[in-house]
Amino acid sequence: MSIHSNIAFFIPHMGCKNLCSFCNQNIISGSITAPSFDEVKSTCRKEYNRMTLNQRRNTQIAFFGGSFTAINRELMIGYLDCVQEFIGSDGFSGIRISTRPDAINDEILCILKEKYVTSVELGAQSMDDYVLRKNLRGHTVAQTEQACRKILEYDIELGMQIMVGLPGQSKQSVINTARKIVDIHPATIRIYPVVVFKGTLIERWYNSGQYTPLTLGEGIDLCSKLLELFNDNGINVIRLGLHAQKTMEEDIVAGLYHPAFKELCESKIYLNKLRHLFKTLKAGSYKILVNSSEVSKVVGHRKSNIKILQDEGYFLRVVGDHSIDIGDLKLI
Ligand code: SF4
Repeated sequence: MSIHSNIAFFIPHMGCKNLCSFCNQNIISGSITAPSFDEVKSTCRKEYNRMTLNQRRNTQIAFFGGSFTAINRELMIGYLDCVQEFIGSDGFSGIRISTRPDAINDEILCILKEKYVTSVELGAQSMDDYVLRKNLRGHTVAQTEQACRKILEYDIELGMQIMVGLPGQSKQSVINTARKIVDIHPATIRIYPVVVFKGTLIERWYNSGQYTPLTLGEGIDLCSKLLELFNDNGINVIRLGLHAQKTMEEDIVAGLYHPAFKELCESKIYLNKLRHLFKTLKAGSYKILVNSSEVSKVVGHRKSNIKILQDEGYFLRVVGDHSIDIGDLKLI
């Protein structure tokens, strides 16, 4: 299923049994309190009336920002019930939720299935038990693997979320996590490079010198490898980097944040491809044809790729061509 938009409701920290080392949903989501049933209904009604049938069919109602299936059962069912009238052949395509791996079982999945939950995003964060323990996740890799299996058994679309640059997480651990996720093969993945927010445990670790975040360059390097791995294996990377918001930026203390993080990673992939291409070629001037939509990524942020290659003796002219596949480069 390819869904293009969400009507997103944030339920910050609801259902969370503990506070993970890096998390401050109130800052990330910009929401302080969860919406009431009436607020959810009225937003859905407004969007239902605003959208065309086709747009509604490409839209899910989403509950993010907490552990949806771990909240009080009555409240969880209440949220699901209050959006039912907007789902169906004339309405939105279904419901998307995010939750913790240890809050998935048969009883919960039966309820989700009955209430038209079509996608579940699991906050896996890492597939390394040491990293999970260090960051107070409160679940194990085995629980994540079991939850993934169960969601797929119920024929619900599986999404996963992972983090890059956590305390205690080596670069190899990140790569191993990505490989395990390729084996599980979720439909979608969100990659969140670690950002140190005010009011989190990792802010304290950072201030006391117990935690040193990856540099932006290291983060881009690592995340571009992940992006390539997931793209090559047909896993849809629906987010890489936090969604840029002015209010959130004020609460960032350190870490891997850039408003165009994904584009920087895509540019890095092109830089690696160009270097590979030039490995056997003499220094000089070259014209490169790329898909027209990709020109700015090949050129790089503030022409960074052009400048780097120029320093290595290669002078590039990048030209857009609709006939070239996205990701391909044609050297003239
Ligand atoms: S990362 Fe998820 S489970 Fe942990 S505190 Fe944040 S919302 Fe809750």
